[in-house]
Amino acid sequence: MEFINLKRQYQEMKSDIDRSIQNVLNNTNFIMGNEVEKFEEELAQYVGVKYCISCSDGTAALQLIYMAYNIGTGDAVFCPDMTFIASIEPVCMLGATPVFCDIDSVTYNIDPTSLRKQIEAVLLEGKLKPRAIVAVDFLGNPASFKELRALADQYGLLLIEDAAQAMGAQYYGKMCGSLGDVAATSFFPTKPLGCYGDGGAVFTNDLGFAEIIRSLRVHGKGKTKYDNLRIGINSRLDTIQASILHVKLKYLAREIEERQQIAKNYDTNLRERLVVPKVEDGCISAFAQYILKASSGEERKQIIDGLKETGIPTILYYPNTLSHLPVFCDMSKYSDTCDDAYNYSQTAFGIPFYPYLSLSEQENIINNIIRMV
Ligand SMILES: *Cc1c(COP(=O)(O)O)cnc(C)c1O
Repeated sequence: MEFINLKRQYQEMKSDIDRSIQNVLNNTNFIMGNEVEKFEEELAQYVGVKYCISCSDGTAALQLIYMAYNIGTGDAVFCPDMTFIASIEPVCMLGATPVFCDIDSVTYNIDPTSLRKQIEAVLLEGKLKPRAIVAVDFLGNPASFKELRALADQYGLLLIEDAAQAMGAQYYGKMCGSLGDVAATSFFPTKPLGCYGDGGAVFTNDLGFAEIIRSLRVHGKGKTKYDNLRIGINSRLDTIQASILHVKLKYLAREIEERQQIAKNYDTNLRERLVVPKVEDGCISAFAQYILKASSGEERKQIIDGLKETGIPTILYYPNTLSHLPVFCDMSKYSDTCDDAYNYSQTAFGIPFYPYLSLSEQENIINNIIRMV
């Protein structure tokens, strides 16, 4: 059994995808072909924003956003302690300082109470200027945008949505990718909307900002590639990837629906034995992963080892909080030690989950877990 079986998904869409790729090959317009702009328009419409600017990957999407807002030395950027390093990695490269906040013990998203504490601690210390909040829709589950928007407004911070795991998810009827001042996503193959290599995008309703991002992704270009206005990077989405994403976007809504069915089946059968994921009222999770929490690290190990023996893979997503990573462990913790994020890192594990997982496979996984706890 595979953790995420992309072969089945490809078989489902094969003729459409093969035709799309062949079309790009016939036209040989590999860089910024028509398919790129077409896909950007389709995805902007799906997400419900005015502008979608595609780029080379999700990390670059975040980097472009930080660059466009001139985030750099002396700036503080607040992010959840439990996320992938890419959420704030570009912040560090640009010379700014990430400040880690605890997660909510139930939704696993950034905890607004911890966020407020950390902002106040940074202000009290007086060395860094709070600039931005990175709200990660962790595991595809929308962050608490109502509370985060209030904090962003109160402290004059930019609200950046990291929707890398959340294409297709919704927050009170609005799509993830449309919930911050600006948003980033990733098309890494195993994300809810994945391509067949690397890819990413930035979302915004602000035309001026969209133009800066478009310039930055091609060496800071002006009207042409050779009248450069600023220092940028090379970060375009390949035409072949755009042609694949055009096909896969048509299947996304149906896949999100299938993800809800599988999550519901897991929830119903496992909620009395382990902690199952909590999606707040008014939200639809993209379930990029289905994560269970054991009562202890020992219980988690016992379940993972037992499943491995029966050929069922699991994943630790993620085994370390950011503040425990070797690269960050000496940084200031400010006023919060992020205990819920640490507890999550020690007890959470993911089980196989993807839209084409059969009912009998789901039952096999459920029965094997029940046998052990
Ligand atoms: C995957 C991911 C990214 C980075 O995306 P890449 O396309 O791999 O660069 C950023 N943030 C989060 C939360 C992610 O899951």
